[in-house]
Formats: sequence, C-alpha cells, structure tokens
Amino acid sequence: MSESWKLVYEGYDPEQEMLREALCTLGNGYFATRGAGEETDAVDDVRYPGTYLAGGYNRLETPVADRMIVNEDLVNFPNWLCLSFRPSGGDWFSLDEGEVLSYRQELDLLSGVLSRDLLHRDTEGRETRVETRRLVHMRHMHLAALEMTITPQNWSGKTEIRSAVDGSVINSGVARYRQLNSVHLEPLGTEQVTDDTVLLKTRTTQSEISMGMAARTRVTIDGKDVVAARETDSRDDYVSQTCTVAAEQGTALVVDKVVALFTSRDRALSDTGRAATYEVARAGSFSALVKSHVLAWKQLWRRGDIVLEPSDGAQMIVRLHIFHLLQTVSPNSIDLDIGMPARGWHGEAYRGHIFWDEIYIFPYLNFRIPEITRALLLYRYRRLDEARDGARDAGHRGAMYPWQSGSSGREETQVVHLNPKSGRWIPDKSRLQRHVNIAIAYNVWQYYQTTGDLEFMLFYGAEMMLEIARFWASLATFNAGLGRYEIHGIMGPDEYHEEYPGADEAGLKNNSYTNIMVSWLLWRAQELLDLLPETRREELTEAIGLSADEVSRWDEISRKMQLCFHDDGILSQFEGYDDLKEFDWDGYRKKYGKIGRLDRILEAEGDNTDNYKLSKQADALMLPYLLSSDMLGQLFERMGYPFEPELIPRIIDYYLERTSHGSTLSGVVNSWVLSRSDRKRSWDWFMEALHSDVADVQGGTTREGVHLGAMAGTVDIVQRCYTGLSIRDNVLWLRPELPEALGSIKQRIRFQGHWLALEITSDHLHVTCEEGGSGELNIGVGGEVHRFAAGDSQDFDL
Ligand code: BGC
Repeated sequence: MSESWKLVYEGYDPEQEMLREALCTLGNGYFATRGAGEETDAVDDVRYPGTYLAGGYNRLETPVADRMIVNEDLVNFPNWLCLSFRPSGGDWFSLDEGEVLSYRQELDLLSGVLSRDLLHRDTEGRETRVETRRLVHMRHMHLAALEMTITPQNWSGKTEIRSAVDGSVINSGVARYRQLNSVHLEPLGTEQVTDDTVLLKTRTTQSEISMGMAARTRVTIDGKDVVAARETDSRDDYVSQTCTVAAEQGTALVVDKVVALFTSRDRALSDTGRAATYEVARAGSFSALVKSHVLAWKQLWRRGDIVLEPSDGAQMIVRLHIFHLLQTVSPNSIDLDIGMPARGWHGEAYRGHIFWDEIYIFPYLNFRIPEITRALLLYRYRRLDEARDGARDAGHRGAMYPWQSGSSGREETQVVHLNPKSGRWIPDKSRLQRHVNIAIAYNVWQYYQTTGDLEFMLFYGAEMMLEIARFWASLATFNAGLGRYEIHGIMGPDEYHEEYPGADEAGLKNNSYTNIMVSWLLWRAQELLDLLPETRREELTEAIGLSADEVSRWDEISRKMQLCFHDDGILSQFEGYDDLKEFDWDGYRKKYGKIGRLDRILEAEGDNTDNYKLSKQADALMLPYLLSSDMLGQLFERMGYPFEPELIPRIIDYYLERTSHGSTLSGVVNSWVLSRSDRKRSWDWFMEALHSDVADVQGGTTREGVHLGAMAGTVDIVQRCYTGLSIRDNVLWLRPELPEALGSIKQRIRFQGHWLALEITSDHLHVTCEEGGSGELNIGVGGEVHRFAAGDSQDFDL
C-alpha cells in the first residue's frame, strides 16, 4: 500500500540531484520550492534550490545578436531552505565533503511531506545522522516549515546551527538561458524582528512584486527549548541567525524552522513584512503544522485519488502526477490570478509561461475541483482585451490569445532561441500557433458541459468563445476557385513545421487540425447563442457588436472549410505536406540514438525539419483525441467530405510512423487514440508517457520543470479514456474498455454538482451517486440512459 504513495530514492547521486529536486518539489498552488537539500546555500551544477510564486513574473531586456530582446520570466524568489550546522571550528555540513554513509529521500504523496534520512562522516571522521522533514502548507498557503534532527554518532561538542533566508538568488536554473539577464530581484533590506525571527524584503525589478519573507528558528533537545546564544548576520539581501548549542553524542538536536511569505499581490494585508512576521508568530510548531497540512491533503485525496488494481507499477506514478498537479493549482489558487503553467512552478523552463497545455489538464480538474478550472479560465477572461488588441494589431477581428502568456496576457513567445547543439540563435516563429485559441474555446465548452455552470458561461465563457470564433472567421479567406474557406499563415501543434521550404513568409496553409476545429467552433458558437437566455444574448451581442449576418457567415464558413487529402485519401497535416521529402528515420536513429529533438539535430547539420514529412508531436491526431468518431463524421458531412470510420486508424498509422515524439504530449495522444483499436499499443504509449518525468525520458528536461500536460494527460487517460467517459446531450456516458494490464479503476468524480463513485473492471461497472446538488443525473451505459439521484447506486454487466 505505502509503496504506491511514495517516491523513494536510495543513495545520494549528484548526477540525479536536479531531477530529484524537480520531482520532489513541494507546492500549494500559491508558491512552490524545489526539493533541494536544506544545507544548500549556493547554486552549482549539482543543485538548484528554486522558490517560485504562482504567477510571479518579471521582465528583463538583453542584447542578443544586434537586437534587444525582452523576456518575461518566472522569478526565482528568495531561498528559505538555508539550514546547516557545523561542529565549532569544523566545516559547514555538506554532502560534497567527507562521505555519505547512507542516504534515503522520500516524498510521501499522501501527506505531502518530503523527508531525508542520511548518515554522514565529515573529513575529521565525525559521524552525524541528519533527518529532515519539510512541507509547503496546503491549507495555510503562506507557510512552509522544515525540521532538521541532528544526532552526533561519535562526537560531542559545541555546535553552530545557521538558519537563513537568501534574497541574493538569480534565475540560473536553465543552462541555455544563462546568456540572458537574470537578476530579477532588488533587495529592500532585512531585520531581526524578535529573538528567533528574521525578516527579508525584496522586490522584482520591473513588475514591482514585493515580498516579505519571515523565518522563525527554534532549537530543542528532548522537547525543551535550548537557550542558545544567537548571532545575526544581516545584509541587504541576506539574513541569517547562528545559534551555538552543546551537542552530545547520541542526543538529537531538533531544529524547527517556520517560514511565511506574503507579496504585494495578496489581499487582506497592509504590508508584506508585517504580514509575514505575524504569520510566523501565530504558526504552531513544525509538528502542529504537519497535522493541519496532512488533513488538507487527506481531503484533497478524497476528491482526487484514482485507485488502480493491479496496475503494473502505474499506481504510484499516477498519484505523483495528481500530486504535482494539485501542488501547482489547488483550492489556494482559486482567488489568484494565475494560468496553468506548462512546466509547473517547478523550475524555470519555458519561463513559467502558459501555453495550450491546459487542454490536457483541465479535464481532470473539471471532474474533481471545477472551481479551479473556473479560476484558470478567468485568467484568460481578464486578458480578453489584450487578446482583442492582439487580433487587431495582426489585422484581424475578435480575440487572438497569444501562444505564450505570462502576467498581462500579451504575447511572451521568444523571438529567437538558442540551439545548444549548434550554439546558434535561431529565429523562433512558434507564436504562429494560433491553435491555442481553439484550445481556450474548447476548454470553456468542456467546462460548461461537465459542470453545467451557466452563470460562468453567460458572463465570461460565452464572450470568450464568441470573440475567438470571430477571430477565426476573420482569418478565414474565401477561395472562389474552390468554393471553400481557407486558413493561411499559421502553424499546427507540430512545432517542426513553421513554413514551406524556401518560402519568404512564415506559416502554413490549411492545417487539418485547425480547419476542422474551426468548423467545430463556428458550429458550437451557434449552439452557444441558442443556449443563452434572450436578454443575455441581446446584451452580449450588442456589447460586442455581433450581427446576425456575421453569425450566418460563421455558419457558412463552418460548412465550407477546406480540407486537404493525399492521393490515397489520408488527411494531410497541412496543404503541401505530401510534397515534402520522406525522412530517413532509421539512418538518424542509428546515427543519433535519441531523435526527439530533430529540430536541433537538423539545424546543427545545416538542414531543417520544414523539409520533411515528420512531426514533433501529435498534430492531425489531435482530432481523434479531442473529438469522438461520431463528431468527426458529423463535421465531415457538414463540410461535404466523405467520411469512412477507417480513416481514423489509417491516419493514426500514417502519422505515428512520421512523428519523432519530441514533446511529452505526443505519448498521451498516441495512447488515447489507440485505446479502442489496439489496447496493447495504447498501454505501451501510456507507460511511455507515464514515465516522461520520473524517468526523465527526454534526458535532461525534467530537472528544469515537470511536464504538467503529460502528467495530467496520463491521469486523464485513466480517468476518461479507459473508462470511456464522455458527455453528450447532457448524459454522462460510460463505455469502459480496460487494458489487459489493469484489473480495475476506482474513482470519485464530480458531474453537474453531484459526486459519483465509479468502480470499473473489465466486465463490471458499479455506479453510486453519493451526494450532490438538487435534481437527477443522466448516466448512459450500453446505449441506455439511467436516472440517478443522491443515494442511488446500480450495477452493470459489461
Ligand atoms: C510543445 C508544445 C507545448 C510546449 C509546452 C512544446 O515542446 O511542442 O505543444 O505546448 O512544449 O509544454
């Protein structure tokens, strides 16, 4: 049982340390701290103790290749871990010196506590056992705490214990960003507040987020405070307290450090420094904080757990993924203005930016804590005007959300990126991935389908969907020769195709994923208008100036989108894909081994991925991932194209052979789309995607931040795909098809205000409607719809 709740590392391995730090990050949806050792006070090639505030960004300029570029980064805020000791006259405890005799690190997912237990021999032969426990509090979101127990094994004597908060940190967690400016903090000073409490204040240089961070440190032996002499070292950006105590062989010295942080973005406070010092003053001891923290996690797991039996080793990793998801966004995030970061608040990769990855992530939240999805969709709503400006500046109408978004919702995608393989800065056109706008509209619709939250739809969701629909309609151009609408100048999800070989202009024509989803959206937009009560429809259409003519043009576009096919009937990823050269997959695999990042490999060779029939990740395959075969059939029919259900397995085979899977998102989609036709391959892809981060399958990216899309995407495969869970016409349909390796799936989901307990095996389904809102629910099994009210349960043979 406990094995499925614990991520355990035996033995110290400096090479693996940064990967472990990312995977052992603790967070609470408000801030997060990487799992670096407490004694770490400097950054080197082995460790990187980052602390990040959810949505805590700052912009800096750097001259690169004759131009000034601006990047908005997720800021590395002061390091609060800093806790170390030394026998008087000796060296500060460090794993780099002396010998590590034993070492075990454990992340307990059930309780949200990270611990280490190690035995160390220093260069003088002194052996010390060091045990640490740490938490970032899930209920009291401004608090973190750690406890270090130091037990001398073969020595006694005066010992110094140093506890600090360090605001001299910079952003240097991602090697390829190190040529860019990275000093995001300017110190606002430090002070000793009480005998055992210090305070540090700092501020980001451009976004002016100020932070107060207070730390209270106490030392006890046998539960009694050790009256220690303390010395404070106070600089502008760093403050430490050093206590001297008498350590005795075999006697445990317990150091209890409680930290609070507040920022100028918080509510209900006057000044961040006072707020932080009050918070540590009223916080209990480490042990008391553990209790309330564990309770908060217990409640989250009641909503969030998915039990797999037997699971072929998948259970622990599925829980680890849920854990990191809920550490990134949690009930603490509901009142914050944050988006869903692709790499968590776990590292500096992709600068903490918000992409389209939420399309993989929201389904889990929709069925568990939809209030969080709502809050994350409001992040988009607040940036609707910025998206309108984006569309207008690009010569379009409606709202065009940026490919990468940070604080204000303006486009944050970099304009050049460094290829570490060639050392060259390469123009980056990935902002042409306008499909992020499809994802936002799709997510609004899915949220509404799952929750029935009409108020959200009326006052926020509908406006976003309509303005996004308007953007796509304005981008579509009519080709009179074909009698069809086309979309030019964009990229699909596959980032390896930015433009046609030798073209002067960036972007592609008629990406199938985009065109079909635009048809879907323009059709849904009409359903949405019908759904709105008359008064609200009038208010909204008046406010955004939407006329009946415009809506009927949407209808026409949705029926006449252009799709491109190869001669053998395969849906083309984009117009002209078929004319590109086939790629030498075997040759490159032989030469390079891992070929996920073909963009870097080919650029370093003076070649370009644009020239070949290859993809970084699922692109056309996103269609069967997001839309049922029925819906695809209806869309094809509406657009006047023949649709044979066999088209789907054919495009799956065709594109799987031509994808390098350079994004961890690819495996999620592959597993999903194969789940009905080839359960074995689906499971293999599921396992591959499941190991993306724990095994760092990309060889070095996880240390810079986890991949939340793949994490949540794999959880969603178990949640919705293998259970065949879908919503159609207000009915929750269940059509389970379990992979052979999975015996059963148990989970509780929330649907339209009710809690449902589902127990699924390969031939049996048990549904209980546990409690819920008023009214009844429609649950469909085997073609029949059943009505459920609170307290009802039913068995179904499959
Ligand atoms: C993928 C994108 C994804 C981004 C952030 C890229 O590697 O190609 O689809 O949105 O990572 O996860």
